[in-house]
Amino acid sequence: MSYIRNTHALVKQGLISEEKSEAITKVAEKFQISLSPEVLANMDKAEIREQYLPSEKELDIKEQELNDPIGDQKFTPIKGITHRYPDRVLLKPLHTCSVYCRFCFRREKVGQAEEILSQNELEHALQYIRKNKNIWEVILTGGDPLSLSPQKLGAILDKVEAIAHVKVIRIHTRIPLVAPEKISASLLNVLDREKALYLILHCNSHKELTENVRLGIKKLCKAGLPLLSQSVLLKNINDSVEKLEELFRSLVEIRIRPYYLHHPDLAQGTSHFRVSLERGRQITSDLRKSLSGIAQPLYVLDVPGGLGKVPAGGEFIQATEDEAWKIRTIHDTFVDYQDYL
Ligand SMILES: *Cc1c(COP(=O)(O)O)cnc(C)c1O
Ligand code: SF4
Repeated sequence: MSYIRNTHALVKQGLISEEKSEAITKVAEKFQISLSPEVLANMDKAEIREQYLPSEKELDIKEQELNDPIGDQKFTPIKGITHRYPDRVLLKPLHTCSVYCRFCFRREKVGQAEEILSQNELEHALQYIRKNKNIWEVILTGGDPLSLSPQKLGAILDKVEAIAHVKVIRIHTRIPLVAPEKISASLLNVLDREKALYLILHCNSHKELTENVRLGIKKLCKAGLPLLSQSVLLKNINDSVEKLEELFRSLVEIRIRPYYLHHPDLAQGTSHFRVSLERGRQITSDLRKSLSGIAQPLYVLDVPGGLGKVPAGGEFIQATEDEAWKIRTIHDTFVDYQDYL
């Protein structure tokens, strides 16, 4: 099986009906499509189909949805860098992924080939990190950094690691869940670093943990890499205590520590995935009753407008009289927030 990246192939494989193909072609004009062989082999499961199969519902773009839902643009001092928090930056060497998740909060950006950093732009981005001595941690994200060739990734990691004040490197990736065959000896070799390198794996359902995926994760573990996970709270995929409990337990059982559960962002054409903050808070507080602490991620909300992530479950967020929310930001300021479902 090979990758599927267009409507025609989806129809041919019987994954979408002929009648829907026109609408899906429209979706594809706006948002990238890609399904990997590993994902395609797992399409009999609703939790997988929902995440990757384009839907005509994506054409329903709400007024409140934003093309930069977490306000990255404001914090981009130079191409390829997002610097919102003093001690850490995002370094985005590329904007392509192996698969395109239908709820992606960077969906306006990902998949644009011209967004790959040139050698020169990468050098400028690294220069920015070198000059800012407060930067303790560099977070490689994108796009998916592990979709770079091991050689290219290694070259970037060498340069980042050589910056004395950078003590920790983090890579956010979906590759181990969607293209486990890419966890090769040469990839493991470039991930073997003097400085701490953490991998944060994006996983939303225990059904993603196929035999191949488990084998790949075992290799990452044996290579000594600390593994954390991040998940997005998604309607009909994992929005229940039972499903999240199964997801987080399954992750811990294969030595992945759940790090974040993200409240779904206001990305365009994703309202069919959104869960209310109230429900998210109920589910996560119920999880406290039954689930081991090491299997509990922090439920977080990325406050629209680039105001940063806040814990979504605690006192940072308060209900207001008109069924909205008041959020205390990390700057100790208060902003109003509303669910748009
Ligand atoms: C989410 C994010 C980070 C990482 O935040 P942590 O809370 O450390 O996981 C860093 N920079 C930006 C711009 C972010 O959006
Ligand atoms: S892998 Fe991450 S960045 Fe890429 S489409 Fe999925 S959510 Fe978006």
